[in-house]
Amino acid sequence: MIEQNFRQIQEKIKQSKQNANRTDEVNLVGVTKYVDTNCARQSVEAGVKHIAENRTELFLEKYQALSDLEITWHLIGTLQRRKVKDVINLVDYFHALDSLRLAKEIQKRAERIISVFIQVNISGEESKHGISADELVDFVISLKECDKIKVVGLMTMAPLHASEAELHVYFSKLRECRDIVSNLKLSYAPCTELSMGMSQDFEIAIEEGATFVRIGSQLFK
Ligand SMILES: *Cc1c(COP(=O)(O)O)cnc(C)c1O
Repeated sequence: MIEQNFRQIQEKIKQSKQNANRTDEVNLVGVTKYVDTNCARQSVEAGVKHIAENRTELFLEKYQALSDLEITWHLIGTLQRRKVKDVINLVDYFHALDSLRLAKEIQKRAERIISVFIQVNISGEESKHGISADELVDFVISLKECDKIKVVGLMTMAPLHASEAELHVYFSKLRECRDIVSNLKLSYAPCTELSMGMSQDFEIAIEEGATFVRIGSQLFK
C-alpha cells in the first residue's frame, strides 16, 4: 500500500512540475506522525528519503528505531525551547524557527551548523505560528549573531479551508518572501528553499515553487 501511495505521489509531483515547467528538484518529505515505526520503515524501503516528525518524543522514537537506514531527518513542528537540546543535533533540517528566543537556544545547544527554515505566517491567521511577512527581513537580520544557524529557506502552512485560488496566492507570497531574503545575500541565509504543501495542497505548492513538500496522510492512507 505505502509503496503504491508513494508511486502515485511521485507521479503527481512529476505532473505538477511539468505544469510549471520546472526541472529543479522537489523533495518529498514523508510525515510519519500518524504511523508507527514499522510503517515509517516501509516508506523508506519503498524509496522515501526524507522523514519528518512534528514532536520531539516521536522524532526520537523514530530516529532510534530507524538508525540502520539512510534517512534525511526533518523536525517540522513547533519546538519548545527546553527540548532543543534533546533533538537539535540529530535533525538535518528544522522547519519551524519562529522567534529570536528559540534561535538563541539553538545557537547555545548546537554542536554544528543547523539548517533551518523560518516559519512564516503568510495568511496572517491568529492561530498560526510563524513570523509575519512584514517582520521577516528584520528577523533574518537579527539572526546574524547566531553563527550556528543557517537559513536554508522559508516554510509555511496554508489555512485548512483555503480555496485553490487562495492557495496560489499564499504560496506565491511565500516565494516572493524567499526571493527578498535570498536577495539580501547574507552568508548565513542563502534562503533558496521553500517548504510548503501538504497532502491536500502540495500540487499547487509545487506549481508555485515548493522544493520540499511535507506529506503524511496521502502517503500512509
Ligand atoms: C502533519 C503535518 C504535515 C502533513 O500533513 P498531511 O496533511 O497529513 O499531509 C505537514 N506539515 C506539518 C507541519 C504537519 O504538522
